[in-house]
Amino acid sequence: MSAPAWYDNGMRHIWLPYRQMKTAAPPLAVTKTHGSRIVLEDGRELIDGIASWWTAVHGYNPPHITNAIAEQAARMPHVMLGGLLHDQAARLATRLAALLPGDLSRVFFSESGSVAVEVALKMAVQFWLNRGVRTRTKFVAFKGGYHGDTFATMAICDPEEGMHTLFAGVLAQNFICELPRDEESAEALDRFLANHADEAAAIIVEPLVQGAGGMVFHDEQTLQRLRALADKYDLLLIFDEIFTGFGRTGAMFASEAAKVVPDIMTIGKALTGGTLPLAATVASGKVFDAFFSDEPLHALMHGPTYMGNALVCAAANASLDLFESQNRLLAANDIGKAMATALGPCLSLPGVSDVRVRGGIGVVELAGTPNREALCQRFVAEGVWVRPLRNVVYLTPALTISEGELAALTGAVRKVLESGTV
Ligand SMILES: *Cc1c(COP(=O)(O)O)cnc(C)c1O
Repeated sequence: MSAPAWYDNGMRHIWLPYRQMKTAAPPLAVTKTHGSRIVLEDGRELIDGIASWWTAVHGYNPPHITNAIAEQAARMPHVMLGGLLHDQAARLATRLAALLPGDLSRVFFSESGSVAVEVALKMAVQFWLNRGVRTRTKFVAFKGGYHGDTFATMAICDPEEGMHTLFAGVLAQNFICELPRDEESAEALDRFLANHADEAAAIIVEPLVQGAGGMVFHDEQTLQRLRALADKYDLLLIFDEIFTGFGRTGAMFASEAAKVVPDIMTIGKALTGGTLPLAATVASGKVFDAFFSDEPLHALMHGPTYMGNALVCAAANASLDLFESQNRLLAANDIGKAMATALGPCLSLPGVSDVRVRGGIGVVELAGTPNREALCQRFVAEGVWVRPLRNVVYLTPALTISEGELAALTGAVRKVLESGTV
């Protein structure tokens, strides 16, 4: 079937993400979505295994959210937050402050996760500057971590997997350490901080699950050790919950499950239920207090043009309504149980090195790095949309996916991996 004109014309002009535009297989033409389905131009429907980069927790086109967006669009799509405030942003900040653990209670909005992390980093450095400390400018981050694609965030991603090598010499130097998964690595980090903490503003980590770095899990104790070390060395602790937030790990936030409250948290991705781009950096009272003074220069020096956009905040408020009215956390845990049962047998397949599940995240790790495009094409042939991250085949479906659709996803993963990992 020949592609429509918009596709052929657009492919001469659009620049797609993470993609060798010369050699990569052409993207699939999509016309609409519904529930857990992506509908292609040629009429095929794919069951979505990854919920559009982990955003569409309520499935696609949830009417409660799309109606809220339409109503807000008719009333007021956008007004700047410089000198003005509107009900959607105010209500969303109030609701997030009530929902988030501890005294994480000051919400700064932005339009993408990378920017929310940039703001968290800037906030941490300025926290010290406002107290007259000019030497705490670096960050302690972890191998396997991913925090975004902008320059400051690239510089705290995993040095091997991230873009460190390509941009070496351009990126800021930070301390990329081993996660303190056991007593030994905790002691090593403790010794490292004894020498270097006074150069660092904060520790930043993705709590419980390192997402884009390969869906690698760690336990609650690892985060408790980080909280203890941050307290011992007077460092701020930042949790990047852009992937883990809003039910993905089976708790509303990973920090809740771990019973550890960070000083700053970043959220994004599923915040609007996969409908519109919104992220936020949320600070504790302790952090906010360092900015709250009679000195104008102590103000937080940041302000994205579209921050707190009313349409986007309306979508997020409607998404929170759905979390209140539907038991998404129970659903995440049920999905996890079903994935553990259905994916477990993959462990005996040649080329599979690990199978793991946490909440609504199911992972089959391969011993070698497969040809991702070939694998993707075989998944599409099975009627599912699954896109491996390097050597990790994973499922992060909508938390509303039906049992039958989930079985089709796990069945396709088994079938494709049984026939070889390419
Ligand atoms: C996706 C992600 C980001 C970056 O978010 P963008 O909206 O893509 O800029 C940052 N941190 C984590 C943990 C993420 O998963």
